[in-house]
Amino acid sequence: MTQQPSLAYKTKQIIKNYDFAFKKNFGQNFLVDERVLEKIISVSEISPEDVVLEIGPGIGTLTQALAKKAKKVVTVEIDKTLIPILHELLADFDNIEIINDDILKVDIAEISAQNGGRPLKVVANLPYYITTPIIMNILEKQLPVESITVMIQKEVAYRMQAQPESKDYGALSLVTQYYCEPYLAANVPQNCFMPRPNVDSAVIRLKVLERPAVEVKDRELLFHIIKTAFAQRRKTLLNCLYNCGGWDMSKEELTGLINKAGIDEKVRGEMLTLEDYAGLAKVFDGEKRS
Ligand code: SAM
Repeated sequence: MTQQPSLAYKTKQIIKNYDFAFKKNFGQNFLVDERVLEKIISVSEISPEDVVLEIGPGIGTLTQALAKKAKKVVTVEIDKTLIPILHELLADFDNIEIINDDILKVDIAEISAQNGGRPLKVVANLPYYITTPIIMNILEKQLPVESITVMIQKEVAYRMQAQPESKDYGALSLVTQYYCEPYLAANVPQNCFMPRPNVDSAVIRLKVLERPAVEVKDRELLFHIIKTAFAQRRKTLLNCLYNCGGWDMSKEELTGLINKAGIDEKVRGEMLTLEDYAGLAKVFDGEKRS
């Protein structure tokens, strides 16, 4: 049996043949490890009825693997110099649509509507400079997306899935877990990319919940309390809310509200669960902020 050239070798050849220059400002670190590619495909659980939205195809390595599993792949690439390369390299597939745009400007709901209205599965090796805006844009606008399987910076992935009392737990954990059930699928070292990034990576799958994990009347208030509780990490909940919350209240009044939610005012934000924060949002509802 003849041996297949490695993904690293094939990538090098493509870069050379097309005289392609990597653009650092677009976060271009192409995946060159077959096992990691297989891992992304397996955890994204693509079935033949699925429409996949890929963000940043690069030279189309992940795109091809996805197109073999899905009904259709819509892939959005910002770098116009990659578009003719992608059209050539993906010419054998009739289920890939290539869009040359910035993902933050694309109407994701429209992509779902144009493809039968099913919620999309988002899969990507994300450009690290805009990981959080891309994911939060999908979640906060509650776009028609069923799951998000992405390679991102390891620290961000750890923070997204962290539980109370751990060092990675913070506002990002709570906001992510309000919308999703996270699953950390793999750690990925720097040598799996070309060129090597200067941070480690991880693959995380976020299964978007049908309804947010907790019910609150005012989502913005919930997120404000969460962010305020972590604004001064070493300080107690009471001091964070007093110093940074913007409520025109004395410490005694704030203590009264915190206790009304069944919480000790001296705890730190990292001790509290999402349900605790939802309880706080309930008792703070209607209280004016400056
Ligand atoms: N998917 C390829 C792979 O796994 O080898 C490339 C991944 S590379 C980390 C990120 C890709 O996202 C690059 O192709 C980059 O040009 C593209 N990109 C960066 N910013 C983008 C944006 N705002 N919208 C769409 N694509 C973007």
